[in-house]
Amino acid sequence: MNEVRHNWSKQEILDIYNKPLMELLYDAATIHRQQHDPNVVQVSTLLSIKTGGCSEDCGYCPQAARYHTGVQGSDLMTVNQVKAQALRAKESGSSRVCMGAAWRNVKDGEEFDQVLDMVRTINKLDMEVCCTLGMITENQAQRLAEAGLYAYNHNLDSSEEYYKEVISTRGYQDRLDTIGNVRKTNVTVCSGGIIGMGESIEDRAGMLVALSTLDPQPESTPINALVAVEGTPLEDEKPVEIWDMIRMVATTRIVLPETQVRLSAGRTQMSREGQAMCFFAGANSIFAGDKLLTTPNPDVNEDMKMFKLLGLNPQKPFTKKVQPQTIEAEDSKYQNLGEKPKWSRPGHTIERNETAKQKAKLIK
Ligand code: SF4
Repeated sequence: MNEVRHNWSKQEILDIYNKPLMELLYDAATIHRQQHDPNVVQVSTLLSIKTGGCSEDCGYCPQAARYHTGVQGSDLMTVNQVKAQALRAKESGSSRVCMGAAWRNVKDGEEFDQVLDMVRTINKLDMEVCCTLGMITENQAQRLAEAGLYAYNHNLDSSEEYYKEVISTRGYQDRLDTIGNVRKTNVTVCSGGIIGMGESIEDRAGMLVALSTLDPQPESTPINALVAVEGTPLEDEKPVEIWDMIRMVATTRIVLPETQVRLSAGRTQMSREGQAMCFFAGANSIFAGDKLLTTPNPDVNEDMKMFKLLGLNPQKPFTKKVQPQTIEAEDSKYQNLGEKPKWSRPGHTIERNETAKQKAKLIK
């Protein structure tokens, strides 16, 4: 039952998701302990290196410039600022730093060169480095790999069908193409999605079909529960029920047996008992730090108390894959090509996104 399969059908995944809970938990926990140490959880720190002002219209995101959410925008952090934060994260038990920039896609130039320096700096601290910078070309992925990047995050967010109800400024295929570009390097792939955006259970299964069909499957899959931020088009969505989260984590564990399943946004709304059930169901990674880009997250000390209570240990860096080598900019095989790729802009109308945009204009 625990071989990696790339041919899951939506119906098979729905049948797993809808099993009686105790059976689902038993199946997921069995696979989990066959593939992973159930007492080890990988801890990542998410750092927003460039906040807000994004041109995209992702309906869940407070960083989209077109909505009025009160997020304070900021320029790209300096390498020294990032290094100081990475050292703090390391001291508090994180093995990975994930740097997020609110960009539609990476543009060759000074800012990207600065990000490459950040990657080199953190890799030299013997921490795993992940970036989430939007869409990237193969050459940009190669440059990140040479700098010592360990993982690239690019979420599929939802099923292909529901994606169109949330985002109109880029297409699902662009997401898959970026993941494909990362796969041409030795950088690992982190890709998952968000539940609680108004999608159906079929859409949740559809997202897992898309993720499991990837060959290889992502090394890491974040499962986020929507944090409904005032001012975004999804501000009125109800909080995700813990049972939905547990079912989603357990189903992900069964369909992606080797992947690290990450509890991401929405943990502040979950009790310790709820999180414990998610760990039992196969979650083996969390984001630590009091903020997840711009939304709240449990305090690191609270997480470490929870780990102690549950007998969990933080995973050491480079447990799953050896540390990448850092190649200095002057020795790099891949240079700035000044690429201007044409990523698609489907541009269909999503009524609630338009309403949020109009409301934001009135508030300003
Ligand atoms: S999720 Fe990323 S791409 Fe979408 S609006 Fe937010 S920062 Fe921009």
